[in-house]
Amino acid sequence: MKLNELTIKQAQKKLAEGEITSVELTKACLARIAEVNDKLNACLLICGEEALAAAAAADARLAAGERGELLGIPFLAKDNILTKGLRTTAASRMLENYVAPYDATVISKLKDAGAVLLGKTNLDEFAHGASTEFSYFGPTKNPYDLTRVPGGSSGGSAAAVAADLCLFALGTDTGGSIRHPASFCGVVGYKPTYGSCSRFGLIAMTSSTDVPGALAKTPEDALAVLKVIQGQDEKDSTTLKLKVKSKLKIKNSLKDLRVGVAKEYFGEGLNKQAETLILAAIEELKKLGAEIVPITLPNTRYGVSVYYIITPSEISSNLARFDGLRFGLKAESEDLADSYLISRGQGFGAEVKRRIMLGTYALSSGYYDAYYLKAQAVRAEIIREFEAAFKLVDVIAAPATPSTAFHLGEQNQDPLKMYLEDTFLTPSSLAGLPAVSLPAGSIAGLPVGWQIMGPQQADELVLNVAAAYANSAQHQKLEIKV
Ligand code: GLN
Repeated sequence: MKLNELTIKQAQKKLAEGEITSVELTKACLARIAEVNDKLNACLLICGEEALAAAAAADARLAAGERGELLGIPFLAKDNILTKGLRTTAASRMLENYVAPYDATVISKLKDAGAVLLGKTNLDEFAHGASTEFSYFGPTKNPYDLTRVPGGSSGGSAAAVAADLCLFALGTDTGGSIRHPASFCGVVGYKPTYGSCSRFGLIAMTSSTDVPGALAKTPEDALAVLKVIQGQDEKDSTTLKLKVKSKLKIKNSLKDLRVGVAKEYFGEGLNKQAETLILAAIEELKKLGAEIVPITLPNTRYGVSVYYIITPSEISSNLARFDGLRFGLKAESEDLADSYLISRGQGFGAEVKRRIMLGTYALSSGYYDAYYLKAQAVRAEIIREFEAAFKLVDVIAAPATPSTAFHLGEQNQDPLKMYLEDTFLTPSSLAGLPAVSLPAGSIAGLPVGWQIMGPQQADELVLNVAAAYANSAQHQKLEIKV
């Protein structure tokens, strides 16, 4: 097994025992990136030198006897997360030459813990999308089939974890952007409770649902990342204190666990073969001792409609800062005299413009009540419905995406089709719930994902259930094509 293929847990053990060094681990990841990134286009920036320096520093800490779950572990970060001194583009032409002046809180926490930043990953421009095709820098490819999309918007992070370019990657999930690509790439995608991880230094999309989280190889690894990045932050007033214990407590028996299954998440819109696999995964939870409880969440069907009013509304406001004056420097040469600012018209891609216009419309006088206010009222209903459901069950199991990864170019001309990718993901985002997507098996060599959602702050529980499943389920290993 190559070092870059290790899980965090495996690598941590080898690092602690002095069997390997962080520099060796980091070099293995950098070599893998150099080998396959041209084909995948998963990374937009690689900071090899800085990574090796950070790895050497981690080795010194390890040699001095310090231990930590992420000490010396190499990772990649989605390129809408600010990284001091490094270009941070959000995959937009608008930010093509933007160098972040500070680290996002999640990045500084990871650096303090001794994790090693390898570089930045591709995404849909400003995280608007579900395929990573809307990147100004070209699409990322799915490592299981290079003619297909990796999902999105954290497609670069998901492809990178799947193809072992790093041990874990950071993503952001606003309406599914961690769980969707994780599902298409056969990795674990974990969206923490809204507010449990600081948004400070994330390039804002929809402030009321944005949350950073981890794409990892196992649920245990995702929990290891959560423990470092979580926490209240005075720079983000929406943060809360999560009650995650410092020790992993993966229970392999799910006795006394009540798992809700809502019929609204099955049937129409869901690929039949995928449905069979997801139902089998739920059956596996039952074998582990869980009780399966049928529940009903009728407002699920409004999730996408509500999300696509609220999201563009917040986007139209958040992206107003890119006003053609403060950001968007275009340099034709090193000489500053040759640089100029690009306009919003030039700087934004079609999907970003569509959302700014939709949001401006939904918020405008005369339409505000009919669209924005109504969407907020239905959102409140969705939240109430989940709260009622969580009186009956501990977690909810559901599909993550309607089907497996689609072909490049297949859906990017039809916004509605693309938005329907988010059907099973948006309700929990609107309610700020923790949710994790993980593999349920495969169809024709392509991964199928499903998800486990929990009430707010039940992060540890959803990850424990995911871990119990992942430890007992037997899946065929899929072939990576790079
Ligand atoms: N696909 C969703 C959208 O396009 C999710 C985006 C996200 O979570 N960043 O809005």
